[in-house]
Amino acid sequence: MQIHLACEHCDHLIYIDEITPSQVASCPNCHCKLYVVKESSEQKVVALSLSAIVMLLSALFYPFISFSEQGITQTITLLDAGKILFKYNSPFLGLLIDISIVFLPLTLLVLFVLIHIGLLKILPKNYAIKLLKLIFKLKPWVMSEIFLIGILISMVKIMSIADISFGLSFYAFSAFIIFYLVSESHIDKNKLWEQIYNSDEAPLIFGPSRAIDNNLRACHACHLLTPQLLCTRCNTKTFFRRPSSIQKVTALLITSLMLYLPANFYPIMHTWVLNQDEPSTILGGIMTLWKMGSYPIAIIIFIASIIIPLAKIFVLSLLCYVVSAKKDIDYIAQHQYTKIYQLTEFIGKWSMLDVFVVAVLVALVQLGALMSITPGKGAIFFAAMVFTSMFAAHAFDPRLLWDKSNTSLKNNQRDNA
Ligand SMILES: [Zn+2]
Ligand SMILES: [Zn+2]
Repeated sequence: MQIHLACEHCDHLIYIDEITPSQVASCPNCHCKLYVVKESSEQKVVALSLSAIVMLLSALFYPFISFSEQGITQTITLLDAGKILFKYNSPFLGLLIDISIVFLPLTLLVLFVLIHIGLLKILPKNYAIKLLKLIFKLKPWVMSEIFLIGILISMVKIMSIADISFGLSFYAFSAFIIFYLVSESHIDKNKLWEQIYNSDEAPLIFGPSRAIDNNLRACHACHLLTPQLLCTRCNTKTFFRRPSSIQKVTALLITSLMLYLPANFYPIMHTWVLNQDEPSTILGGIMTLWKMGSYPIAIIIFIASIIIPLAKIFVLSLLCYVVSAKKDIDYIAQHQYTKIYQLTEFIGKWSMLDVFVVAVLVALVQLGALMSITPGKGAIFFAAMVFTSMFAAHAFDPRLLWDKSNTSLKNNQRDNA
């Protein structure tokens, strides 16, 4: 199988003549991982996705967690977290949780099975294209694994005040997450796109150079290399670089910073004990955990809710500055900035952890006048902040970093001489 592509991170042109299962292709310029061939990946995706579907469906119908305090027991199912948030005037949070932990992964799993048993060949071409594009757009928004960690953290928070027991659904949900993640890792994007259109006519100007220097555009949806304004495989508009990427990232970063302030100022949840309100902000919650002696959990929440969002805003601002500044940057700096960007994109959604912890606590702790927990305004601002910063990271075009100078090109040419 021959593969022609431009590295997504640095725009370096790459031609892979032959790659065997379990081999990894990396970019010779920026060393990012480009391509891995997995053995019999189709059958594995189908088997793993089906197992994940069975586990997720069984997780919906049995008790998830039980919580008892002074003889009162509250048992919830997986969907109760969303339902109870809906009741407490947080339909936004309720919907977000049900969609990102149950409905979105379930839909994707069904689609994973269908596209791996030949749906793409039966569908009319433009529907097949739309479907594939949709699948790859939705994938980054699945947050079930973060929810699972959120559950464990909320358990630590209330362990000291009540008895907790996990129901059958909890174990099914954990198994679903493992099957989902392994199945997703076996998906071969290139193979799927080739079912729609086999790009044999790929341009053959290859050497140490970038796509842009050869007047080639890498389609951002299917990665096909083309000189055309419209991708010949998926009909998406093509660009050398994402248009006004820096402006979009800047606008989203400002929004996200503006949301960060109320997210920390307003309480993220209210604990009602005997009808007395005890509001707690994100930082307040972390301090309570610290005083309780749950140091590791306090540190995890501090990193996820305070450090990661700020670091992300800082890193993306720095990258925008580096790209817009007139100064050239050297190869080592380009390399490091690319790595930092990849890390930022990868860890972004983990900031949702504290929102999920609140959701689980709200769903569980509903013991009437004795004790109950309701969501605070801060949680909504916080979730909106995480979303805008995720959009900002997706809007940034890392190839702009490599346009800053042609040092990488010169190095390569010198190496080859
Ligand atoms: Zn590269
Ligand atoms: Zn395309």
